[in-house]
Amino acid sequence: SSFSNSSLLHLTSKIKATGPISVAEYMREVLTNPVSGYYVRHDMLGTDGDFITSPEISQIFGELLGIWCVSEWMAAGKPRRFQLVELGPGRGSLISDVLRVFSQLRTVLSGTSVSVHLVEISPKLSKVQAHNLTGEQNQVSSDKNATVYRRGTTMSGLPVCWYHRVEDIPEGFSIFLAHEFFDALPIHKFQRTERGWREVMVDIDPEEQDKLCFVLVPAPTLASSVLLQADEKREHVEVCPEGGVTVQRLSNRIAEHGGAALIADYGHDGVKTDTFRGFRGHKLHDVLSAPGTADLTADVDFSYLRRMAGDEVVCFGPITQRQFLRNMGIDVRLQVLLQNCPDDSTRAQLIQGFDMLTNPKQMGERFKFFAMLAHGRLLRPAAGQGTAKKAPAPLPVAGFTELGPLGERS
Ligand code: SAH
Repeated sequence: SSFSNSSLLHLTSKIKATGPISVAEYMREVLTNPVSGYYVRHDMLGTDGDFITSPEISQIFGELLGIWCVSEWMAAGKPRRFQLVELGPGRGSLISDVLRVFSQLRTVLSGTSVSVHLVEISPKLSKVQAHNLTGEQNQVSSDKNATVYRRGTTMSGLPVCWYHRVEDIPEGFSIFLAHEFFDALPIHKFQRTERGWREVMVDIDPEEQDKLCFVLVPAPTLASSVLLQADEKREHVEVCPEGGVTVQRLSNRIAEHGGAALIADYGHDGVKTDTFRGFRGHKLHDVLSAPGTADLTADVDFSYLRRMAGDEVVCFGPITQRQFLRNMGIDVRLQVLLQNCPDDSTRAQLIQGFDMLTNPKQMGERFKFFAMLAHGRLLRPAAGQGTAKKAPAPLPVAGFTELGPLGERS
């Protein structure tokens, strides 16, 4: 399309002017350039799009995450103000399923002021989200520099705001959700050589002027000197500094104002090497060809995120999606839905969705769950005055603790 050409043209003229660009700059340009960016122009999700995600596959996914949110809010002592935050909400399916659980648990949440905060870079997707969450009850801000660029009221009557950046969300107790968000953030790529670490960059193919290729820069770059670990064992490493900074922001917020974060994505714990991939129409796509027409992604390195979160918060995981969803009671939830479901095709769909999410050959093992919690969350509360009994133990961290059928730790 003319758009993809504009993306390629922009990249080649930039490289001609200033030399090869980092993979991170390439990714940022291709995915989020305000005019030609893949995320800015596309609704890429679903069967007609380039990839499909768990919340689009099954309602159970968002429901279980909704229970996780409420359970962490309860474990924090039910604060009166509760901000539910999602990074990269896609079409808004996950947050809708979470909010349905909130509605079902309204007696538990009564007297609590719940608000919804969405961090979304794409105006196009924010519109889809707004439609799905609010119907027509939302407006775009007329001020181009406003931190809240869209606001509205959800179908269940909660205020919802849209932001470009995590920093712009108001301070206060917050539960953060990020599903398939971190894999879309720009990575740097490094290769070990005989003369030390060198950064992989994107250049114009010397043989074909309208094609791009990877090159190894001859000298160290700023990124290669600051982003690698001294004791790194791998030959090839991908680092996502923007993901690191985002995690730091979340951990600062959680430490200062209370709350928790749940990050789910495909990824590893610091062992994988070359994972940079393109997807178009559900098929692998060469990352350097027709930029802007395919999704670009890299596996999330959870060991890096944990390191960047620091000591301010307690980290859990990564554990596999299969394990997390099982601990959250997906088997029981499936049985309940099947019992209440009269027609065969919906039943088949429910079972197929369950299999996609949990089967190790599908998304069950490639996808991981990782959580950050406030330190106070795991302390035994001080014994109440006048009570001779010991204070109760803190609630187990849902999803990361195996629970028996009656809710006890097994
Ligand atoms: N969480 C959704 C969508 C995943 S796609 C789901 O699971 O279905 C990635 C989402 O992150 C999209 O909504 C995309 O527009 C958004 N996004 C990508 N890069 C972003 C950035 N730098 N800042 C904010 N949002 C971003």
